[in-house]
Amino acid sequence: YFEKSDVLHTLPKQFFASLVSKVGEIAAEGYDVINLGQGNPDQPTPRHIVAKLRTAAENPINHKYSPFRGAGYLKEAVCEYYKREFGVELDPAKEVAILFGGKAGLVELPQCLLNPGDTVLVPDPGYPDYWSGVALARAKMEMMPLKEDKGYLPDYGQLGTEALEKAKLMFLNYPNNPTGAMATEEFFKETVELAKEHSICVVHDFAYGGIGFEGDKPLSFLQVEGAKETGIEIYTLSKTYNMAGWRVGFAVGNQSVIEAIELLQDHLYVSLFPAVQEAAAEALLGPQDCVEELVRTYESRRNVFIGGLQSIGWNVSAPAGSFFSWLKVPDGFTSQDFSDYLLSHAHVAVAPGIGFGEYGEGYVRAGLLTTEDRLLKAVSRIEALKIF
Ligand code: PLP
Repeated sequence: YFEKSDVLHTLPKQFFASLVSKVGEIAAEGYDVINLGQGNPDQPTPRHIVAKLRTAAENPINHKYSPFRGAGYLKEAVCEYYKREFGVELDPAKEVAILFGGKAGLVELPQCLLNPGDTVLVPDPGYPDYWSGVALARAKMEMMPLKEDKGYLPDYGQLGTEALEKAKLMFLNYPNNPTGAMATEEFFKETVELAKEHSICVVHDFAYGGIGFEGDKPLSFLQVEGAKETGIEIYTLSKTYNMAGWRVGFAVGNQSVIEAIELLQDHLYVSLFPAVQEAAAEALLGPQDCVEELVRTYESRRNVFIGGLQSIGWNVSAPAGSFFSWLKVPDGFTSQDFSDYLLSHAHVAVAPGIGFGEYGEGYVRAGLLTTEDRLLKAVSRIEALKIF
């Protein structure tokens, strides 16, 4: 019997674990649960990417260790992708780090840049893995409330000078999980100014960078002048190319931050399976009609689901990007009560907003991660509860 280290005890509780077990219990009773609670893309990886993996896996060169810091061709592919998609120029040798999925990079980053006791600005509500990275670095969080009336962008004016003076790192995430909000160019410009003034390193989590609706393409933080001096962006192939199981992502931007990530990773991993790196380059540089199709699918699901909820009297608004909808819970319920209620009475699973932070209270998150038919079925089961 061995005790866990102190730092492991400071890690936040994995709130999805309890959702998964509750869904499992209801399903074990024989009910058909419509699970909108998790963020796992439901569609397969495009065939040409899988085909590339298959042939690359046959090549014995890919059975060996590949360069520690990732294959040069994948870094070049990332640069071509950023130039093509966002008009951003990057140096493959100095401004790109290959990651084992976005999550690994986000959790590692605080350890690369912070000392115990340092302060990190974290969006609330936000993706809980930011908290884990901060805890592992033994740093402290200062929450930045994201409110509906500000378009879920943090109001820097409300943060107070002390918090800004102390902060060394700031996480941002647009298109946003859980709210589905998008950033504006003006907001990113304001962020660069603030980061420069207070010497804060910005980490923009661009996990949903491929998913914007109504023709609104998500903005890369690096598109704003001066952004590279103030931070990095973390991208993943999980969502844009339905590759969540493949564990491949990358960080781009500020040279000294990239260097710090690569230095830490030298001690953690060798590199991704080279065949996965070949397939990732194929995803970035190959045909992109699969991405257009993916966005069309989510947009159509969004219209069906949000339209359906509005038609039964639930006052909800449509997300601008990502594949999540952020729904205000009816009066009289907490977010946890309401998600328990929907699960036990309608067999529809959604994530309680409180799992994303204090300011997530009052909302639930529903993923657009099943077919339109199933989403409509979820709507009619909710309608049958007669709460709206
Ligand atoms: N960032 C956000 C906001 C996410 O929602 C996710 C996944 O759900 C990730 C990062 C990490 O994605 P991955 O580790 O699959 O690259």
